[in-house]
Amino acid sequence: MIIVMRRDASPQQVQGVSDLITEIGLRAQPIQGTDLVVVAVIGDDRLKDGSKLEQAPGVDRVMRVLSPYKMAAKEAAGAKKTEVRLGPNCVFGGKQVPVIAGPCSVEGEKEILEIAELCKQAGAHALRGGAFKPRTNPYAFQGHGEDGLKMLANAREATGLPIVTEVITPADVELVAKYADCLQIGTRNAQNFKLLEAVGESGKPVLFKRGMAMTINEYLQAADYILAAGNPNVILCERGIRTFEDHTRNTLSLSAVPELHLRSHLPVVVDPSHGTGHAYLVADMSRAAIAAGCDGLAIECHQDPKHAMTDGAQSITPAMLTELMVSLSRVAEAVDRTCLPLAAVG
Ligand code: PEP
Ligand code: MN
Repeated sequence: MIIVMRRDASPQQVQGVSDLITEIGLRAQPIQGTDLVVVAVIGDDRLKDGSKLEQAPGVDRVMRVLSPYKMAAKEAAGAKKTEVRLGPNCVFGGKQVPVIAGPCSVEGEKEILEIAELCKQAGAHALRGGAFKPRTNPYAFQGHGEDGLKMLANAREATGLPIVTEVITPADVELVAKYADCLQIGTRNAQNFKLLEAVGESGKPVLFKRGMAMTINEYLQAADYILAAGNPNVILCERGIRTFEDHTRNTLSLSAVPELHLRSHLPVVVDPSHGTGHAYLVADMSRAAIAAGCDGLAIECHQDPKHAMTDGAQSITPAMLTELMVSLSRVAEAVDRTCLPLAAVG
């Protein structure tokens, strides 16, 4: 069940509803939306009587959500889409389609400062870069860890771009949250439920990538782990799934974008870099993603892709990003969105 409070409901009324939920043996999780509060009922409520809740002061309506995911479900937010804000010029879920760009890994102090500046000049709205890298090969570069986070923080200082970086273990959530504006959960950790709960408790915006072998149904249930821990700032990210096809690194499922919008109020970002594995496919798939209704893009961009420490083959250059931004804003306009380069926004 989801209890939608009236817009003018007081904090005491929200507390009253939460107490009633506890009385009937379930857990209450109030979520502060942009203009109203909903209280999610956590636990098996199939045999519970919700009529008491309907009568409680401040309640607008009580909704039974039939899907296995509750808080990610569209009904949980009424008709509204959730907006997740990383900074004044970077809001996901509104009219703007922000672009997160940057290298796969934070490679060094000089390198990240240089690429951050180039991504900003190209028009990107946020900077990405991994300091903790989840590598398939245990002997491969694992990232610079906290040093990498400090380098990212310096790059934010220099450019003003909010930073998005991955966290791979619950023990590091506090540390990464100290530096980052947005915590990325990678595909390999999309069903690491303890990690999802930990980023949920941190309250920081989360860029939550779809697991490479996850159905949409499983994906939205996993998103509920973050939401149910009290964090409403979840951005979904389609980054390609495993199929038999091998001309691309993954198969970028663009139909997931409208499907997720049908089922959920959460913003949806597309990552055409991991979705294809090839720099030459990134521009076309970025334009297609905006046409399909995505709320943002996450693109790997490197000043010297041939020598990138990780994911060079799928990284575009700053020159390619600059050119891409021009056509992205034209496609966005055609679907009633905006994707203006940062310079034009700020
Ligand atoms: C990344 O963003 O560099 C990354 C490791 O992504 P994914 O988890 O989608 O593979
Ligand atoms: Mn990468």
